[in-house]
Amino acid sequence: MLQTFTKPSFIGDSWSFLQSRLQGTVIVPDDQRYDQARLAWNLAVNQQPAGIVVPKSAADVIEAVRFARSEGLSIAVQATGHGNVRPADGSLLILTSDLQGVEIDAQAQTAWVEAGVKWGVVLAKAQAAGLAPLLGSSPDVGAVGYTLGGGMGWLGRKYGLSADNVNYFEVVTTDGQLRRVSATENSDLFWGLRGGGGSLAIVTGMEIKLYPVTTVYGGNLFYSIEQAKAVISHYREWLPTVPDELTSSVVIMNFPPIPEMPDFLRGQSFVMIRGAYTGPVEQGEALLEYWRTWQKPVIDDFKALPFTQAAAISNDPVEPMAAMSSSAWLRELSDEAIDILIDHLKPANGSPLAFAEVRHAGGAIARPQATAYSNRDAQLSLQVVGAIFSPESHQALKGYVAQFKQALQPYLTGQVYMNFLEGTESQEQIRNGYAPEAYERLTQLKAKYDPDNVLAYGFNIQPAGK
Ligand SMILES: Cc1cc2nc3c(=O)[nH]c(=O)nc-3n(C[C@H](O)[C@H](O)[C@H](O)COP(=O)(O)OP(=O)(O)OC[C@H]3O[C@@H](n4cnc5c(N)ncnc54)[C@H](O)[C@@H]3O)c2cc1C
Repeated sequence: MLQTFTKPSFIGDSWSFLQSRLQGTVIVPDDQRYDQARLAWNLAVNQQPAGIVVPKSAADVIEAVRFARSEGLSIAVQATGHGNVRPADGSLLILTSDLQGVEIDAQAQTAWVEAGVKWGVVLAKAQAAGLAPLLGSSPDVGAVGYTLGGGMGWLGRKYGLSADNVNYFEVVTTDGQLRRVSATENSDLFWGLRGGGGSLAIVTGMEIKLYPVTTVYGGNLFYSIEQAKAVISHYREWLPTVPDELTSSVVIMNFPPIPEMPDFLRGQSFVMIRGAYTGPVEQGEALLEYWRTWQKPVIDDFKALPFTQAAAISNDPVEPMAAMSSSAWLRELSDEAIDILIDHLKPANGSPLAFAEVRHAGGAIARPQATAYSNRDAQLSLQVVGAIFSPESHQALKGYVAQFKQALQPYLTGQVYMNFLEGTESQEQIRNGYAPEAYERLTQLKAKYDPDNVLAYGFNIQPAGK
């Protein structure tokens, strides 16, 4: 039973008193570190928290929660700021960036990962032991935030979502208590945290499963943009034939006309087949024959890739940038849907989008699991991303994406993948992130674990009955 929160007697009303209770750091608005600390990786996020706490331990998180409760503050949590749902305005923002513990147990094939750790760090340490975590396309994303939303990566069809591979979480609930959450301890919360996002509790660390993967057959085939329709249709025919060892996507990419780009990519558009095969390299090569014997790609960099270099498959940007991401599950890649996709990505048509990617889910992701993540039968995840240059361009991008999704409506399932949404769209689409009964159950968990909606900056789940 969750304890009722009572104001601890040691709490005064000042941030400096909180600082005296912490091993970590308190940063208030008149501190010169404030403007740097309030940044998110996505530079489009402009947030003005009432104060920022950078904890060094779970004990610090407990102090911060108790302080916030006694001061009537809501609590936001940020690891990297890759997936902001709501700016942390007026809140106590807990920045987990100093919670950097990672311990690999090679025997048990598990990793203990603290809340501020990025996937790249887990990957490097696990690979040194011949093991792999289920990271996504970017090693710069936070392992915990990614996992709370589900977590679909290049080993996903073989081993499932990251959320499916958590042994336990350590959390602080909004009553200021440290709890262990697993299939046998606080099991209702364990169900909710696996896909339900970060608005049920503050995760201080998690133990995850690792897999014996050191090499994949992975990379990209670049085809000329003029071949986009043929390539995407050919991709559609390929998917029912591929094994779970292959996780892949088809991408339309408009490379920006910036000096940092190599000549052959700068300002150019391509359609790309991208993926990773986890299994014998020869079998990966044999699978790729489907493409190589069909049409010779302009660039073919599929090869035996040390999994330490998994980031090279998507080559996601690492430096902070202002961008907008949106997403939807496609019902099918019909000829009409493909035409709409291509038309809306053409720079010549005024498209402000940098890329669109259709990822192939299914395989182990489709297998039933006791998790809040519930769109398991969805097979084709569409994600679009555009850069933001000004508030006006942000508005224009939002309008463009809304119109694009409207045009695609007949080919969408109506459900969304929460990890690929952000900002107001994430808040508005929350019910479509889950099966109706799963969403209902999440609202009941919210009523039990955070009845006052103190954690109002994670996924927008409202407490049942409010
Ligand atoms: C370049 C890029 C590549 C990506 N690739 C993939 C991919 O391949 N597959 C995929 O599934 N997703 C992918 N994503 C989406 C990503 O998983 C989400 O944006 C995720 O929420 C990022 O987590 P974070 O902790 O890095 O970001 P943050 O913005 O810091 O946190 C994201 C959310 O998680 C909550 N949160 C973070 N830490 C905690 C905690 N300790 N306790 C409670 N709540 C917490 C935050 O409050 C926030 O709501 C990608 C995103 C980007 C920008």
